[in-house]
Parts: sequence; structure tokens; C-alpha cells
Amino acid sequence: MASIQPININLIVPCYNEEAVLPETSRQLLAMLGKLQVQGRIDGESRVTFVDDGSRDRTWQMIEELSRQDARVHGIKLSRNQGHQNALLAGLLSARGDVLVSLDADLQDDIDAIPRMLDEYERGADIVYGVRARRDTDTVFKRWTARAYYGLLRKFGVDIVPDHADFRLMSRRSLDALRDFREVNLFLRGIIPMLGFRTAIVTYDRLSRFAGESKYPVLKMLALALNGIFSFSTVPLQWITVFGFILSAASMAIGIWALFIRFATTLAIPGWASTVIPMYFLGGLQLLALGIIGGYLSRIYSETKQRPRFIIEKSI
Ligand code: UDP
Ligand code: MG
Repeated sequence: MASIQPININLIVPCYNEEAVLPETSRQLLAMLGKLQVQGRIDGESRVTFVDDGSRDRTWQMIEELSRQDARVHGIKLSRNQGHQNALLAGLLSARGDVLVSLDADLQDDIDAIPRMLDEYERGADIVYGVRARRDTDTVFKRWTARAYYGLLRKFGVDIVPDHADFRLMSRRSLDALRDFREVNLFLRGIIPMLGFRTAIVTYDRLSRFAGESKYPVLKMLALALNGIFSFSTVPLQWITVFGFILSAASMAIGIWALFIRFATTLAIPGWASTVIPMYFLGGLQLLALGIIGGYLSRIYSETKQRPRFIIEKSI
């Protein structure tokens, strides 16, 4: 497509303690940029932006070094660790470029999908989702929980692209729209489909982490998963009402039955089971209901404070 003007692309890579992978990631991304530039598809100002999410290792020094070696490498340093979603948002909202592509630092997102994402952009898509064709490099646990979770989200009416994480291309105007979403409890893959625009999908095979360890321990993953539910669906709140309704109906029926036994028969014995069992059951149910309400309450609490979602210490 030689007639199309070269695109100014910026690859956004959040990094948390990624010293083990950075040199190789940078090498591969720059090679990809070089290839696309030779083909005349991207312009000479195209770049890679590493977002250092408050790493405790040499990640930032490495980014500075890489930037000295190659002018196409840029960096944003957050003042402390704010989590993957916030680091990604910092990159998306502050980096320049006609087109931004976000991807993980560990090369799990196959960079060969990037030219295909550009194809879709040239065909008019504003947002191009990288979707995993296979998940066989994930652990069984991750695969199973992910499938159950995405199914649950769909049941809750949350519009998400299945098997898509945060490997995606976004046009400048879709990024401008993203800026207007002010929420603090970030779950980007829930927000992006709300932007609208023309979207496309590019499939890729998820690779194994190139080096180092996952920076997403189970607890962090759980926190993200809960954000996906509580920030995008109020169905759990409706559940409480439905549960409450069913239970009141059931207890009314049991009440009538008990009255019948008491007055119409001679079977009435002072029973503890009928008192104790509903007590535990109802206690558990009340706690569950309180927990669900707490999930929303805590998010309303943090949203109303409108604290900054990221703080940039410096950029290069
Ligand atoms: N990451 C981040 N901040 C964090 C945790 C992770 O910026 O607090 C980045 C990490 O450096 C990587 C991406 O998020 O580029 C995905 O993390 P990881 O590969 O460890 O997650 P996994 O692939 O195991 O789900
Ligand atoms: Mg990874």
C-alpha cells in the first residue's frame, strides 16, 4: 500500500522489574520498526515507549541506556508502582503518535501481529484487538480460570472481547475518547469496547514469557478480575434482590408449614434444627450480600476521591 502516507506509530510497553527481558524486547521491537520503515509503512519518528511502573530493579537505568543507544527508544518513569493497568494508561494518555500499540514487555504478545494490526488500521479500523488463537503456553489453572471468568463477565452483560488482554492498536481519535473516561478502578479491556469506533481483530499465538517471572501473582489477578465485575456490571446487586425475594418466599412457606404442624397436628416438638440451620444460612447470605455491596461501596469511595491514576516522575 505505497499510496498510503507512512504512519507514526508508538509501541507502548509497561515494565515492572523487567531487567531480564528489556534488552531483547527492545532489540526485537526496534527491528520490527526498522522493517516497517523500510517498507514505507511507518515514518522515521516512530518509536518505542517503555513505561517503568516503579520498578525496584535496574529497569529504568536500562531504559535510559537503550534510549542513549537508539533515539527511537523513549521512556516514562512513574513515581511508584501503580499496577499494569495504570502504567498502560499513563503510556496511552501521554505518548505521542498517530497510532499506539500496547504490548507486554515479556514478548508474550507476538510482535509479528503488529504489521497485521497496521493492515486493519489502514483498512479503517480505529481499534484492533490482538486475540489469542491458542492459550497452550498458559498454565492449566490460568486457562481454566480465564475461561470461567470471561464466561461470567458475558453473563453479567459486560462487553469484552474474549481471549484479548491488552495487546491492541489504538488510533489517535480513539485515544482522545479514552481520555474522557475518568475512572480510577481501571479495567481497560472493559472500557475500550465502550469507545465505539470501527474495530477489528487480529489473532496470534500467545508465546511463553521470554525471561524472568510473571509480575501478576494470583492476588493481583484477582484484584483485576474483581474490577472487571464491579466496575462494569451491577448484576450482582440485582442478585441480592432476587436471593432476598426467593428466601422470603421460602421462609413464608416454611412459616405456614410450621404453623400447620403446631396447630393442626400433634407432631410439634421443640426443635433446634429449624432455628439453627436458617440462622447460619441467613447469616452467610447476609455476609455475602454485604460483601457485594462493599465491593461497590469501596469503588464508589475511590472514584469520588478522584485521585490521580498515575504520577509521572520523568520522561525521555
Ligand atoms: N506490569 C506492570 N506493573 C505491574 C505488574 C506488571 O507494568 O505492577 C507489566 C509487566 O512488566 C508486563 C505486563 O505488565 O509487561 C504483563 O505482566 P506479566 O507478563 O508479568 O503478566 P502475565 O503475562 O504473567 O499475566
Ligand atoms: Mg506475561
